[in-house]
Amino acid sequence: MTRRVLAAFLFVVFLVASCGTLTESPPDRAQPGDAESGGRTPCEGAGDDFPGDVALARCLTEWFWARRFEQSGGAYRPITRFVAYEGNGGPDCGGQPAVPENAFYCPYGHFIAYDAAWLEAMYDQMGDGAVYVVIPHELGHAVQAQLVDDFRFNVERELQADCYAGAALSGLIRVGVLGAEQGDEEELLANLEAAGDPTDVWWTPDAHGSPELRQQYFARGYNDGVGAC
Ligand SMILES: [Zn+2]
Repeated sequence: MTRRVLAAFLFVVFLVASCGTLTESPPDRAQPGDAESGGRTPCEGAGDDFPGDVALARCLTEWFWARRFEQSGGAYRPITRFVAYEGNGGPDCGGQPAVPENAFYCPYGHFIAYDAAWLEAMYDQMGDGAVYVVIPHELGHAVQAQLVDDFRFNVERELQADCYAGAALSGLIRVGVLGAEQGDEEELLANLEAAGDPTDVWWTPDAHGSPELRQQYFARGYNDGVGAC
């Protein structure tokens, strides 16, 4: 049985509630893919340190999507690799070098890579919520690659990945394999703010959306599930 108590995560919910769009906990109403799990997942470990949390965030999120695809008559294609790197030592993606302080999904090879030192620093400073936002977001891109991935602007792709991350996390909480409790609010607030674009030039190729927009789309998935993304 995997039951991870996700400190600091609940604050995401409170934070986004201040935008007037999010309930305090996942809605009780069933979402597609919510079939009883009995609290059992194939994911090992309790995730009580950084490597454990990273592995668990990946495993639980892929488990969520496998069930969600299966429920729709499809088959989720797991990522092929989950690569930890440091600094400039990351894997290329389609000829583009990896950059420090980043996490990314690469469609060429269908893998995810992350700067482990960077992510661990966020984890140490801001709590485990960092891992449970970053990893589900990148896996959201892996899901997009298996569905329609036809966006006019990169920001649309990024915001949908935030929405998918919210949907996966609330789905995991709803079936009882991920717990949420209140954590360090100010630190997570800083983390979420940092995740948004500093300006609102949403049409640029690397735009991810303003902090407010990212919270809004995360909240949409969290409240209303995958179908709302
Ligand atoms: Zn992204």
